[in-house]
Amino acid sequence: MSEVRSTCPYCGVGCGVILAPGADGLQVRGDPHHPANRGRLCSKGSALAETVGTEGRLLAPRIGGRQTDWETALDHVARRFADTVATHGPDSVAFYASGQMLTEDYYLANKFMKGFVGTANIDTNSRLCMASTVAGHRRAFGTDTVPGTYEDLDDADLVVLVGSNLAWCHPVLHQRVLAAKAARGTKIVVVDPRRTASCNGADLHLPLAIGSDVALFNRLLAAIHEADAVDHGYIASVTGFDAALAAARSADIAPTGLAPDLVESFCRLWIGTERVVTVFSQGVNQSTCGTDKVSAILNCHIATGRIGKPGMGPFSVTGQPNAMGGREVGGLANTLACHLDIENPAHRAAVAGFWSAPRLAATPGLKAVDMFRAVADGRVKALWIMHTNPAATLPEANAVREAITECPFTVVSDVTNATDTARLADVLLPAAAWAEKDGTVTNSDRTISRQRAALTPPGQAKPDWWHIAQVATRMGHAHAFDYVGPSEIFREHAALSGIAGGLGRDFDISGLADLTDADYDALAPTRWPVAARRGGRFFADGLAFHADGKMRMIPVHWSEPVGKTEPRYPFRLNTGRVRDHWHTMTRTGRSARLSAHLAEPFVEIHPEDADRLHIAPDTLVEVSSPTGSAILRATITDAVQPGTLFSPMHWSAETAPSGRIDAMVAAATDPISGQPESKATICAARPFAAA
Ligand code: SF4
Repeated sequence: MSEVRSTCPYCGVGCGVILAPGADGLQVRGDPHHPANRGRLCSKGSALAETVGTEGRLLAPRIGGRQTDWETALDHVARRFADTVATHGPDSVAFYASGQMLTEDYYLANKFMKGFVGTANIDTNSRLCMASTVAGHRRAFGTDTVPGTYEDLDDADLVVLVGSNLAWCHPVLHQRVLAAKAARGTKIVVVDPRRTASCNGADLHLPLAIGSDVALFNRLLAAIHEADAVDHGYIASVTGFDAALAAARSADIAPTGLAPDLVESFCRLWIGTERVVTVFSQGVNQSTCGTDKVSAILNCHIATGRIGKPGMGPFSVTGQPNAMGGREVGGLANTLACHLDIENPAHRAAVAGFWSAPRLAATPGLKAVDMFRAVADGRVKALWIMHTNPAATLPEANAVREAITECPFTVVSDVTNATDTARLADVLLPAAAWAEKDGTVTNSDRTISRQRAALTPPGQAKPDWWHIAQVATRMGHAHAFDYVGPSEIFREHAALSGIAGGLGRDFDISGLADLTDADYDALAPTRWPVAARRGGRFFADGLAFHADGKMRMIPVHWSEPVGKTEPRYPFRLNTGRVRDHWHTMTRTGRSARLSAHLAEPFVEIHPEDADRLHIAPDTLVEVSSPTGSAILRATITDAVQPGTLFSPMHWSAETAPSGRIDAMVAAATDPISGQPESKATICAARPFAAA
């Protein structure tokens, strides 16, 4: 097979890769023509070839642990889902999807559940990644519109990284920021409780108290007003300025944990630099007040009109390769396809008509954490999980594990049966892996890129869209799921987006609705909106997607993380990624090179705390919270603040049974976005003494 252009399956940067299959295996290199990376790859992308192969792959369907054939497995799944719906109603079934899925697969899962099963109980692990940003965008703009582009990072004079360790989590973007610094002197500010790798090369680090981002950006908004830096022309078509400013002024009494002169230096720099991009990620989103944090950042950009113009704007970077694609197809339980609103009757009528859907869901479904609570208490009796590992990664993971175990019927579609979740499934469906399947993904700056197959799926593995279409067909919906391939699904998705555009939504790729199969195969990276009604740049004109066309500034007040520290649990545990691993390591764990970077689960603890607790470097520490505990290797470092701990989220029961941390994280969520708090778990730490 000749070389194939595709997309890296890890983070939301969405780097282009060139795959060259050969007798010596797969070769992978960066695509010099892809606009996201221009040939660059990070350590994970460079090691992609080491993660493919048939070792550990699920090669055939299984029912109850026994190998079977596709016909038997699909009939069984369809019958159990249909029986459950018939007996207990559509809300008794649920689908838990993933930002790893391709857009075409995601589109079909959403169509199947919302349009034909008749429930909005489809949510995604992206709920853990960027749901607060979606909610914040919708409050401000009326739609989940990402204003920023990667070129803005090249053109900015100031880049502020908030709750984002870009150097490790989006390394190629960080390289672009450093290149801008070298080329034009771009200043870099890091706002993060930890001193992360992103602080290397930064001009300023603000080690704020965990969870105090709203207080900091409220202070910035007040300072913008005091410095007379408000863009009065821009805010003439904005509502909520006075209320947002009044709330911001009360920030004087809200604690950031920062020295006042450091805060004032930051405010002066931000106000004095017109071309400023504020990049934010999980440190903002994964919070019980994540939506308010997003609003606090957006307020500052809206007040100064620094949005929708080259080199400036708020910019949420997504964790997963297709978190954005999932947002486009309505993969969240509270959204409808193509950024339409599930609670809007006209939007529902448009989607139901387009799909000829017999029973389109009329109300939002269960968000991720609530979905597994419903599994636990028996409301959900049949569950389909695709390409994600909730038994390891959802908060209170032990309870999630128990819920899946007790669920009357669980289906898992995945490339392997060696995950904490797959081991609990009643039915396992073998899936094609990255490099074996065709479709599209959308990266953080709305660029749609093709993923192209370079390898043949091993055994009986099949693409995800086929799993869904086959089950839907067996449930009586053949007319709506009779696809021959992903290009057909993509065209349908693009055509529906044109209807959404006609209803005033931002997401419109209808210019791609008539691609031939050959056009689809050759599709170059394309940023939406494609059928641009506004010249392809959102918000340059100050207009938003609310009914009155006006942007909203939202008054927000600082609040503490929901869990309160107490004498038994005096620490706050912050969780995150390491440079060379991805999620629960089902792929990166196969690379010895990547695994060598940080070989085992660890906990970072400040020297003062380590000294007080008699914890020596590299010894084992027992970290415990009200919901779980883990044994972790101590890394003593002043990169974390006294009273706080940091531990990576990658290790699972499969890879380090005593080192799993998501069992400790409480299932407390943001009341608007439903995103869990993964950065402020209350916990205790002590030297581990083996029994
Ligand atoms: Fe892949 Fe992200 Fe690295 Fe690019 S930056 S190579 S998308 S992991």
